[in-house]
Amino acid sequence: TVYRFGGDAPHDDPRQRDKVVTGGKGANLAEMASIGLPVPPGFTITTEECVRYLQAGEAFRDELRAEVAEALAHVERAVGKKFGDAADPLLVSVRSGARVSMPGMMDTVLNLGLNDETVEGLAKVSEDERFAWDSYRRFIQMYSDVVLGLDHGLFEEALEIAKEDQGYYNDTEMSADDWRSLVREYKRIVREEQDEPFPQDVNDQLWGAIAAVFGSWDSERAKVYRRLNDIPADWGTAVNVQAMVFGNMGDTSATGVAFTRDPSTGDRSYYGEYLINAQGEDVVAGIRTPQYLTRAAREAAGAKPLSMEEALPQAYEELARVFDLLESHYRDMQDIEFTVERGKLWMLQTRTGKRTAKAALKMATDMVDEGLIDRAEAVRRIDPMALDQLLHPTLDPDAERDVMTTGLPASPGAAAGKIVLDADTAEQWANRGDKVILVRVETSPEDIHGMHAAQGILTARGGMTSHAAVVARGMGRPCVSGASGISIDRTERTLRIGSQELKEGDTITLDGANGQVMLGEVPTVEPELAGDFATLMEWADELRRMRVRTNAETPEDCRMARQFGAEGIGLCRTEHMFFDAGRIKAVRQMILAEDEAGRRKALDQLLPEQRADFTAIFEVMAGLPCTIRLLDPPLHEFLPTRDEDFADLSDATGLGVDHLRRRANELHEFNPMLGHRGCRLGITYPEIYEMQARAIFEAACAVEAESGDAPLPEIMIPLVATKKELSLLRALVDRVAEEVFGEKGTRIAYLVGTMIELPRAALLAGEIAEEGEFFSFGTNDLTQTTLGLSRDDAGRFLGTYVDKGIFPRDPFVSLDVDGVGQLVELAATRGRATRPEIKLGICGEHGGDPASIGFCENVGLDYVSASPYRVPIARLAAAQAAL
Ligand code: ADP
Ligand code: MG
Ligand code: MG
Repeated sequence: TVYRFGGDAPHDDPRQRDKVVTGGKGANLAEMASIGLPVPPGFTITTEECVRYLQAGEAFRDELRAEVAEALAHVERAVGKKFGDAADPLLVSVRSGARVSMPGMMDTVLNLGLNDETVEGLAKVSEDERFAWDSYRRFIQMYSDVVLGLDHGLFEEALEIAKEDQGYYNDTEMSADDWRSLVREYKRIVREEQDEPFPQDVNDQLWGAIAAVFGSWDSERAKVYRRLNDIPADWGTAVNVQAMVFGNMGDTSATGVAFTRDPSTGDRSYYGEYLINAQGEDVVAGIRTPQYLTRAAREAAGAKPLSMEEALPQAYEELARVFDLLESHYRDMQDIEFTVERGKLWMLQTRTGKRTAKAALKMATDMVDEGLIDRAEAVRRIDPMALDQLLHPTLDPDAERDVMTTGLPASPGAAAGKIVLDADTAEQWANRGDKVILVRVETSPEDIHGMHAAQGILTARGGMTSHAAVVARGMGRPCVSGASGISIDRTERTLRIGSQELKEGDTITLDGANGQVMLGEVPTVEPELAGDFATLMEWADELRRMRVRTNAETPEDCRMARQFGAEGIGLCRTEHMFFDAGRIKAVRQMILAEDEAGRRKALDQLLPEQRADFTAIFEVMAGLPCTIRLLDPPLHEFLPTRDEDFADLSDATGLGVDHLRRRANELHEFNPMLGHRGCRLGITYPEIYEMQARAIFEAACAVEAESGDAPLPEIMIPLVATKKELSLLRALVDRVAEEVFGEKGTRIAYLVGTMIELPRAALLAGEIAEEGEFFSFGTNDLTQTTLGLSRDDAGRFLGTYVDKGIFPRDPFVSLDVDGVGQLVELAATRGRATRPEIKLGICGEHGGDPASIGFCENVGLDYVSASPYRVPIARLAAAQAAL
């Protein structure tokens, strides 16, 4: 299907404005045309046609050819020119546009329809020979790169040589004749490289370009981007064919990109860059340094070249009017592309602009104040994962900075790491655990994987809207772009920044907030969580139903989590306390003891330590529910492995090293994940759980006595498969509780419950709920046991599984809703049937994953629990899930 836009085209079919059908670019071009904005006429071939074309082995349907011919005829009529007309040719751009914007992934061809004849016609009607030949050489270069697949370096080199021959520095110095000879050279290159002349038939050009756009959906770099961003392979891309408008027709023409608000800070000021007498991608490609849009921005930067506001005041005024129209229409910040042709403004693209997390918060709260959106919409608009950018440290303002150079503050945040000079190295070094900063002259789509692997990105060229800047902001990576004073020697793997000689591997720090590039690693400080962040989180808290707890086992983590808004502990893993250097010896004695008496002796040493642990945690979590899991991992995890540990232990126990080694060997298990662990430990060695329960109750009583504000301990028995296991251990916990309450002469409230982490437990949740007062879904183990997949071993093949679409995402990161989710839902339903007031929560890693949190809301869990830094993310995601 083909949809027309602009001119006299109808825009009333809702499918035309649906991104799923016409892609983001096509849908928004139609939308802009429909509200009366000046959009050059054109048409969109749907994403469905792309999928069909690829499925058919890269073949076009005859019907499509006919529809395109008809739509093209309409464009010809609207513009009053004919495609391929030697006297006055219609030129078009062929542009890709998928459902979501994929920066730089798909290639655009401009000035299509030029050939040896039409270029002469264009020169005559425009009365500008230089413009015509400049356009033609651009066309040959782009078409050869994108459609014919020739190396663009060949063309760049030819241009460099042409300039050198004439002693020119800038492209602008090239005359009409210079461009004409360059075209000759370009055509020679094409013939030589592919044994065929550059296509002169304009229809061949058009279909070649359409095929290239469709084909680019399956290019390697598009695949990488899709994988990183969870974009399904079957969406396809649309193709937009649009009449050209020219920003390169002299000094009253220009091209630019702009945001209706500042995408870094969120400030309510127009923001953008433009270039006079330039075309399309000149601004983003960093070929010439772009100029400021507004006078205020130019003055603030102390720059000389006139802003658009000053140089083209009328077009600027019109642009400002369009900005306001767009914002009130879309009710969100827009990222736009425009061109001015001899004083007249044309809109070429609009989309919801990418922004930093900080800007997203500011815009959302501002727009609520402006009455543009309501609070729920503000909450809906923030990507929970993007909050991560704000929760991490920034550079210490008081620390010393050895600033080597300053570039543009392209994406905020602080990053320190080792210099790497190419994307592959970035990925390799990051994989081996290094923090790296990717340093490039400029980035291109081929660098995406390296940008992803890097802590931050530094480029020598390019503006605030360069590829590096846009992609870095989208990924949340700090980025400094266009830092002059950097020269890179790729062969020697060295570089100079300012006056410093550096080499790959040296450490530098970037400050994406002000563009500074510093030698060495600069210390950081904790983030400030006030202002817009606090406001938005407050709104989120009003809107959510589920509670948010944290997974934490130290008082520091608990304190941090409470600052982030945690409303209790969802999982306190007691074994972490056993690893502590001061007590591992007692733990080992306990494990290696021959009998109960031996174990009790060691446990007696551990009791005061555990009590102290819990007391410290309970003081922080006063009055809040705290789920504490009794000992879970297989005992041999605590065993000594080194000779000196055995020797130490022998000294402490008086047992021989050989004897200890024999005991350790006896404890070996073939498959510890399914071995002697969880409640199986409590069943076989009840004295361990007795000690832990006693420590918990004594600590709770102590806090109650001290502050009158004990938490609510929720004692959790792990890895239960049967009701009987739980009833035995519950009786044990209740007995210890009574003993402690008797000794202390006080009582505190508590609950005993279980983790649902085995399929059998989920299936039998109805009867297990007779004994358990709460369920916490341990979805890490539940995923392992349901999928029969070991989390520690799956890394080797899970990537392939995700690539092949077997799993949509890593099931340890995002809950397998179809499978594991069914067990959760079933257990929740059966548990509630037995015990309507049963408390239900999730404590696996999934508790901090927004998609999984959405699922938890749908099955009606009472709370989710996440690691401290993820608590705000979970609060926001829980609110979004409830909307
Ligand atoms: P991308 O997705 O890489 O931005 P676009 O299709 O938006 O690709 O186009 C690349 C550049 O060419 C942009 O600067 C755009 O504004 C410009 N451009 C596209 N179509 C036209 C046109 N018909 N006339 C003038 N400039 C155009
Ligand atoms: Mg592009
Ligand atoms: Mg674009």
